[in-house]
Amino acid sequence: MKFDLHTHHYRCGHADGNIRDYIEAGISAGLQVIGISDHTPYFGFEEDQAFPNTAMGKSQLADYVQEVLDLKKEYAGKIDVLLGIESDYFPHHAHLYKAALDSYPFDYIIGSVHFSGGYSIFDPTRWDGLSEQEKVATKSEYFRMIGESAKSGMFHILGHIDAMKSRYPEFSDIEAPEALDDMLRTIADSGVAIEVNTSGKIKLCGLWHPIDSMLERAFHFGVEISFGSDSHVPERVGDDFELVASKLREIGYTEWVYYKQKQRQVVAL
Ligand SMILES: [Zn+2]
Ligand SMILES: [Zn+2]
Repeated sequence: MKFDLHTHHYRCGHADGNIRDYIEAGISAGLQVIGISDHTPYFGFEEDQAFPNTAMGKSQLADYVQEVLDLKKEYAGKIDVLLGIESDYFPHHAHLYKAALDSYPFDYIIGSVHFSGGYSIFDPTRWDGLSEQEKVATKSEYFRMIGESAKSGMFHILGHIDAMKSRYPEFSDIEAPEALDDMLRTIADSGVAIEVNTSGKIKLCGLWHPIDSMLERAFHFGVEISFGSDSHVPERVGDDFELVASKLREIGYTEWVYYKQKQRQVVAL
């Protein structure tokens, strides 16, 4: 049983292809389930499309949902198409996100922290000139925010929980064991899954999110795992699914999960 819950398409302005291309790629990759999970619009901004190369406009959300629902019907019996979304987590705007997303029949919502401490998590310049202590504080604050996102109750799955390493591989060497354990304990207590996101392999860090040592720690705390390729090109759908499954079995996991109609679906590993 093969699934991939994290895929993008042209609406965000930085992914290739339309939704149908990703579904077709999913069928070719042998998936039984594909989740479509475009980036949320920036609900906290006045403009309809505040950042055209990052996310769709607010006015496009209804069309996005309708297109996925139409394709779900069309592909029924061939592949299970799920309606998802990758939501930003901005604590001060969480109520806006909740209100906007509540009105649609999402199968699941992936919660991703993309900003912390006033910077994009992907901005490598944020580390320039920081002392070792400040680096630990930066990493700890990022993990704290992810824990907070888990507790918000808005999400079913947390996206790429060590994505700060994607353009700054040294991130993984910064020692913040307490912040890591606090985050994982909070995630486990919140009953939210984390994804193994294989897109990290095509970034500077060259590794999946999160790194193996974090997955081992996640297993220790009983954190559930889901899978997402985070494809921004159709060719990546399902990328490394089998390798991730065997890594998880090696760690001790016997099952992983996806969400349909906001209900947890357990898949044997
Ligand atoms: Zn993207
Ligand atoms: Zn993301």
